[in-house]
Amino acid sequence: MDSLLTYLQKAREAKIAIGHFNISTIETFHAIVGACRETRLPVIIGVSEGEAQFFNIEDVAVLVQRVREKENIPVFLNADHFHDMALIERAARAGFDSILCDFGKLPFDQNCGQTQQATKLARRISRGILIEGELGYLGSGSEIHQSVPAGAQVLEKDFTTPEQAREFQKQAGVDLLSPAVGSFHGMAASANEHISIPHIQALREHTDLFLVLHGGSGLSDQDFTNAIQAGINVIHINTELRVLWRKSATQAFSEHPDEIAPYKLLESVGAVLQKHISERMRLFAGQK
Ligand SMILES: [Zn+2]
Repeated sequence: MDSLLTYLQKAREAKIAIGHFNISTIETFHAIVGACRETRLPVIIGVSEGEAQFFNIEDVAVLVQRVREKENIPVFLNADHFHDMALIERAARAGFDSILCDFGKLPFDQNCGQTQQATKLARRISRGILIEGELGYLGSGSEIHQSVPAGAQVLEKDFTTPEQAREFQKQAGVDLLSPAVGSFHGMAASANEHISIPHIQALREHTDLFLVLHGGSGLSDQDFTNAIQAGINVIHINTELRVLWRKSATQAFSEHPDEIAPYKLLESVGAVLQKHISERMRLFAGQK
C-alpha cells in the first residue's frame, strides 16, 4: 500500500483532492471505509482531540491500520487540530499517518515555535509522519453557528500569503498547510462562506506545500471544484456529517420506537452517511 504522501503527490499532479471526514463512533467509521471500498478512492479519517479521546486514540489507529492492511484499501488516519503535546505524542506513537498540529490561534512567531516543537516531537517517534500546520484562525467547533464564529479570519486582509506560508514551512517544517482563505469551521445560519480562489492559486504557485481546505461544510459543489482546480489537495468535512448523523438517527429512533438493538437503529444512519461521503469523494476526485 502506498503511503499518504504518495497519494497526496498523485492528487496534486492530477489536480484532485482527497476527502477528510471525522468520526467519533463506529458506524461513521464503517461508512467511510464503505465509501472507500465503493469508490476505490483514497480517504482520510480524522479525529479531533475530543473525538479521539471518546474513541480512544490507540483503538482508532488499530482499526484503521487493520482495515488498510487486510483489505489493501487506501484509508489513512489524521489527528485533526491537536494542540496538546501529550496527545500529539500519543497519536505519533499509535501510528497515525498525519497530525494537524494546530497553533493557528497564536501570533505568527509563537505559532511557528509551537508547531516546530510538535513537529520535532512527532518525527522523533514516527519518522515518516506528515505534519500539517495552520496559518490564520478559522474559528472552532464543527457546529451550526448563528454567524461567522468569533475570531475567525474571514477578511481578505487576514488571508495567508505565499510569503507567510514559505516562512512558516521553513521555520516549522510542515508538509501540509491549512491556510486562511475565507472558509471557517462549522456552518453559519446567517452568513455566506466565501473562499478566495486567487489566494489559493497564489499559494499553489509560490509554495510546494500540500494545501488543505477546512470548514468545507456549507460550500457549494462549484466552490469545491474551483478550489481544487486552484490547488487544494485535501478537503475537510465534519459539520454536515454531524447534521446528517443526528437527522438520520432521530428518524430511525422515531420510526422504530420499540427497537432496542443499537446496531439495528444505527444501520440506516451508516447507510445515509456512506452515500453522502461517496458523493463528496467523487466530487473531490473530479468524477461528478
Ligand atoms: Zn479543521
